[in-house]
This record gives sequence, structure tokens and C-alpha cells, in this order.
Amino acid sequence: MVQSSVLGFPRMGVNRDLKKATEAYWADKLSQEDLLKEGKRLRLEHWKIQKDAGIDIIPSNDFAFYDHVLDHIQLFGVIPERYTKNNLSQIDQYFAMGRGLQKPDKNIDVPALEMVKWFDSNYHYVKPTLQDSQVFKLSENPKPVVEFKEAKEAGITTRPVLLGPVSFLALGKADRDQSILPLDSLDKLLPLYEDLLKQLKAAGAEYVQIDEPILVFDLKQDAKDAFKPAYEKLGSLGDAAPKITLATYFGDIVHNTDLLKHLQKLHSIHVDLVRNPEQLDEVIAALGPQQSLSAGVVDGRNIWKTNFQKAIEVVETAVQKLGKDRVIVATSSSLLHTPHTLASEKKLDAEVADWFSFAVEKVSEVAIIAKAVTEGPATVRDQLDANAKSMKARADSKRTNVAAVKERQQNVTEEMHNRKAPFPTRIAEQEKTLKLPKFPTTTIGSFPQTKEIRIQRNKHTKGEITDEEYEKFIEKEIQDTIKIQEELDLDVFVHGEPERNDMVQYFGERLDGYAFTQNGWVQSYGSRCVRPPIVVGDISRPAPMTVKESKYAASISKRPMKGMLTGPITCLRWSFPRNDVHQSVQAQQLALALRDEVIDLEKAGVFVIQVDEPALREGLPLRQGKERTDYLKWAVDSFRLATAGVENGTQVHSHFCYSEFQDFFYAIAALDADVLSIENSKSDAKLLKVFVDEAYPRHIGPGVYDIHSPRVPSEQEIKDRIQEMLKYLKPEQLWIDPDCGLKTRQWKETKAALTNMVNAAKYFRSQTA
Ligand SMILES: [Zn+2]
Repeated sequence: MVQSSVLGFPRMGVNRDLKKATEAYWADKLSQEDLLKEGKRLRLEHWKIQKDAGIDIIPSNDFAFYDHVLDHIQLFGVIPERYTKNNLSQIDQYFAMGRGLQKPDKNIDVPALEMVKWFDSNYHYVKPTLQDSQVFKLSENPKPVVEFKEAKEAGITTRPVLLGPVSFLALGKADRDQSILPLDSLDKLLPLYEDLLKQLKAAGAEYVQIDEPILVFDLKQDAKDAFKPAYEKLGSLGDAAPKITLATYFGDIVHNTDLLKHLQKLHSIHVDLVRNPEQLDEVIAALGPQQSLSAGVVDGRNIWKTNFQKAIEVVETAVQKLGKDRVIVATSSSLLHTPHTLASEKKLDAEVADWFSFAVEKVSEVAIIAKAVTEGPATVRDQLDANAKSMKARADSKRTNVAAVKERQQNVTEEMHNRKAPFPTRIAEQEKTLKLPKFPTTTIGSFPQTKEIRIQRNKHTKGEITDEEYEKFIEKEIQDTIKIQEELDLDVFVHGEPERNDMVQYFGERLDGYAFTQNGWVQSYGSRCVRPPIVVGDISRPAPMTVKESKYAASISKRPMKGMLTGPITCLRWSFPRNDVHQSVQAQQLALALRDEVIDLEKAGVFVIQVDEPALREGLPLRQGKERTDYLKWAVDSFRLATAGVENGTQVHSHFCYSEFQDFFYAIAALDADVLSIENSKSDAKLLKVFVDEAYPRHIGPGVYDIHSPRVPSEQEIKDRIQEMLKYLKPEQLWIDPDCGLKTRQWKETKAALTNMVNAAKYFRSQTA
């Protein structure tokens, strides 16, 4: 028979219970015992959901209090000394590595380990951080064994999930001041995996899932070379260890199929057939004579109902070649990246609700597909029919077929991506319109989101104050913000964004083609969850989105006002995109909507417009090659389409929340923004050399101070920073601004820091006068 399997389940619980419990524990409002109990309750609940749905292979050790990679860091004892010396309890040491720990009364002050994005998702993992003299040690009572036994006691046999040794090391790094190449430690780490596998087997585990997601990357030789020793060793443990399923996801492994010959002793190989269905034949051809295929046909990264007909076809193709006993139906990846259950959504429009499937529903989908293939479609006829009906309804819906949007896209021309004149002409006209001094000062957009702002927004959302009352409140906030900027003597003002909840949701709510959930939370990192809007149909802008506030702000201020928009790629990447049309199509629809907004802002007297694209880089496909080149083309095009409609005298800004863009420089240059602001205060100013090397002609505002901390930089510090920058940038190119938006800061430190920043700019202005 074809078995059904899930690679991992979301951890948070139906009401974000895990978030609530961990945050209560951190705030000393929940005991350690109760926190651990809550973790146990959630695991059991999640196993039961899967068992009740009829899943054959249920994962364990997919649960984590903070992050599963951090679990492995502790499991293998890859713990830098700074976290061991304070005699913290095991869980406190774990949280200290995940989020840092400050206890002045106990003289404890350790920062968190570095956290970065998990492949191309919005989930963040904690980086394994190794020492030159790294010693690995398997923890006592290893978590995977404990949780396997826990499930077994509840009558549920699970397949424990481990991150594989090659990925664990390859995703890690040397600690600061250390020079170890993590993969060189493979020989030292492997015995711990052997030990762990034997313990799992002794506890009764028949199967284990070992994730090696790095197989979807273009691997360097050292990583490729690591697979042979690792899996010939783990694969030859025979009956002493559980049977191993090696799992990959978020891409294809065709470019690494030569490595599969080293994996042939393993029970099965899992591949993501949602993202890359075309890899099926080649992967099957590379399997060993007894080896099984785990076919990931239910999307773990999105919220759309699985198309049963298509998924069953893929599984049947595999079954024809391998037989039913060698095929497993699975989720494409862990369901970690999907919200818990659709059942929590009470306010969704019924039409679109019928198109969605969250984690709980996806679990059922896996079981239904497996049953259809094993026992024949007649046994699940009702489910198949309902699914086909739902697929057809979505394809035929008015929302997914807006003629006016399609027609407008057909009429997009090449010229629409280009400003009216090249930069030298534009900047000359902008100097006339804006009359800015040298070293112009500005901020990145948002000002402190005070408690009062959140209170009023909540009241408005709940209907406790009227629209007019709320608007009055926002106007007053804008007035105050303008007055403060006048006192600070900044050169280009912003309205401060008091009306915005979130930089993507705010726009989504004002566009046609979006839907919003009440409880569609997904884990971003640790206890932090995000609730991405969902692109459900063709996107258009029924009315201006930001013009009212920016126009009002411009009308009451003496200096140029900067309008603030979120770019098309960021709007798309931080939402759940559609899966029925290519993302480039959706990006272009967003770009056209924003283009109208940009032109409306200009008409309203806003002659500086910033379009932020912080997600531009994270959207970069994981592998080199055509997909990446294509992405950069349509991503850059969408920004240009959004911004190129204005007159030469209107200045287009863009902002990037990172500074490591050497490998990405040409894409940012291709945006043709008049002014770029970038995060820079924590990096070496040498990074700016790329602007010189590439003869970048336009204006740049590298952040002169870090906004992530309440610390106020002195005027001298900022002057020194600017002096450094002037080694690489021409004085007429340089803007003076902070690293990023100020919404998470308090007013007190914001005013103090900006005062010093403006004074530093004035100093250089007087020096070059
Ligand atoms: Zn930023």
C-alpha cells in the first residue's frame, strides 16, 4: 500500500498557545514546569490530529520551544562557553542562545546566537556556531528519544525528525575569532548520530526522517564530499538503527543526483514535487533497487487546497515505476510554514475560504490522496468531487479573472519601465524643485509608534471611536511629527506613518485581490508569528491608499514631504502568493496599482517618494542560473514600472535593510532610484567601495546610526562615520539618515539621536561651503 506521511507540523497550537506560554515564562509569569507541560500538551494534541486523520507516518521531534536547529545545537553540545558558564537550567540556556539573556542582578549579559532566514522562507533559524576546538557531546536524555517515547506512551508510533549532519554543519559557521570550517568536523559529529539512531531504535523507532535540505543548493565540493562518508556510515547500521528517510525540500535535487548513489542504503528519499514536479523521473531513475520514494505533493509552504487530480497523477506515475509499496504520499516540506487550521477563520468570505487549506486540512489531504491511490478513487469519491468542484470554482471565479487588470497588463510597454530622462537631467530638475542643501538629512519613514497610537487604532478597529475621531487623532499625530521635524531642522520630512499597522497589510487592505485571516499565524522566529495577507485574485487599486495622509502632511510643512510606499516584491513576498499564476504576473499587477499611487502622490504635491523593497533580495531563487536571472528581471521591472511614471523633478527613493549586497549590486543599481538609503552603521564603511568600483552615479544615504538599540550616538561618532563614508562617496552624492525606520524606538532617544545627526550634517555642510 501507499503510505501517508507528514514531514512536520506547526508548533504554535490553535490559539498561538506556545507563543503565549513561552512569553509568559520569559516574563516570570509561568513556571518552568508549566511551560514544559504546555509543550507536552501541544505535542500530544498535534500527534492526535494526524492520527485521527489517518496518517501512517507521523513526525516527532518536529516540535521546538524556539527553533528546531537550536534544538540540535543543544542536542549535540555545540554551545559556546558564554552560555555554559552561568549554570543556567537546560531550557534557560536554550533560550539564552535563541534570544540572548540580560540579568544585571546576576551579572549575566549574553547576546543571542545569529539568526538567519531558513532557505527562502520567512522562518528564521539559529545558526550553529562552532569553535576551533569544538567538542560534540550528545545530551543526556536526547530530546528526539524522549519525545518518541512520549508519543509511544500515548499509543502513537512516530517517525522522529532530525536535521542531518551535513546540513547541520553546512548551515553553521565559526564563532567570532574562530576559523574552523564546520564541515571539517563531520568525522567528530557522525558518532553522535550513530549513537542517537541506536537509542531511537532501542526505544522502538522503526523509521527516522533525516532532513538534508541543502541538497537543493548548488553545493560546493566540500559539502558534496560530505554526503558519501556520512550516509554510507549511517546507512550501514542495518538493524541497529531505524530505517532512514532522507528528506529534501524547497527545490529540486536533479543537479545533485550523482550524490544519490551514496544514499542508496537508506530506506527512502523525499523530494518536493510541488515546487519541482519535473524532477520525478530523474530521481526515480537514481533510486536504489529497493529504495522508496516519498512524494511531496501537498504544499507545506502555502495555504491553497491541493489539486487532488494533479497530485494523484504524480503519485500514480511513481507507483507505475516503483509499485505501491515503494511510494509514500507526503507534504512537500514541514507544515511549519502554514497556519494551524482553517476552522479558526470565522470571517472569511465563503467563496475564498473554499480555496484554502491550512495545516490541519493539509494533513487530511495527504491521507485522502494515499487512500485514493491505495484503495482506488471510488473509496474517496465525495472528497475528490468536492475538490474538483472547488478547483473549478476558483479557476472560473470573477476574482481570478478580472478583465480590466489583464487588459492593463497586456498594454504594459517597455517605455513604461523607464523614467522620462536619465539621472543627470532628473537630478538637475530635482535640485530646482526641492532646493535641498548639501548632505541633505531625512529619516527612513516611520516615527515612534507610541502606546497611544496603538490604543487609538485598537479602539477604531473595535468600533469604539468613529472614523472621524480616528482621522482627527491621526492628523494631530502628523502635526506633532511635522513640528518635531521642524525643530530638528531635518531637510526632507515624512508624515511618520501613525496610521499604518504593518507595511504590507496596510496596502493589502486597500487593494482588491487580497484576503485577510483572523488567525492565520505562522512562526517567523522564536515566539514571533506573522499573519501574511493572502493574494486571492487579480490585484487592482480601487482608490488612493496613502495620498490623504501624505497630502495633509505636505500641506502643513515647510520642507519637502516624502511619500512612503511598500514595493511590489515586498507586498508579494510577505503575503501568501497565488499558486495559479506566476509570481511575475502578480508582481506586475501590484506594480501597476503602486504606479497609480505614485502618480497620485505627485499630483498631490508630494515630490519625494520612497518605495521600499526590503524583500527584494530574499526572493532570489536558491540556485544560480536561469530562474535567478529571470527573477531579477521581473523583480527589477516591477519596481521600475511602479516608479517610472513621475516627472523628472520628482525624486524616487528606495530603502534596503541590509548592506551585504555586493553579489546583488547590479540589481539594486538597475532600479534606477534617484536616492538609495541602506543599512550601514554596523558594517564596515568599506562595503561602500562597491559604489565607487561600479561608478554608481546616483545619490546614497548609508545609515549613520543603528536604530535597533535605544543608545544615542554622539555627534562626534556620527561625524566620524560620515568622514569614513566620504572616503568612498562624493559629497554631492551623500545623504545623511538613520539605518532604518524609527517605529520601534521611543521619542526621547529618537530626538536626541536625530539632533546629533543633523548637527553632524551641518558641520560637513559648513566644511564644504
Ligand atoms: Zn530598513
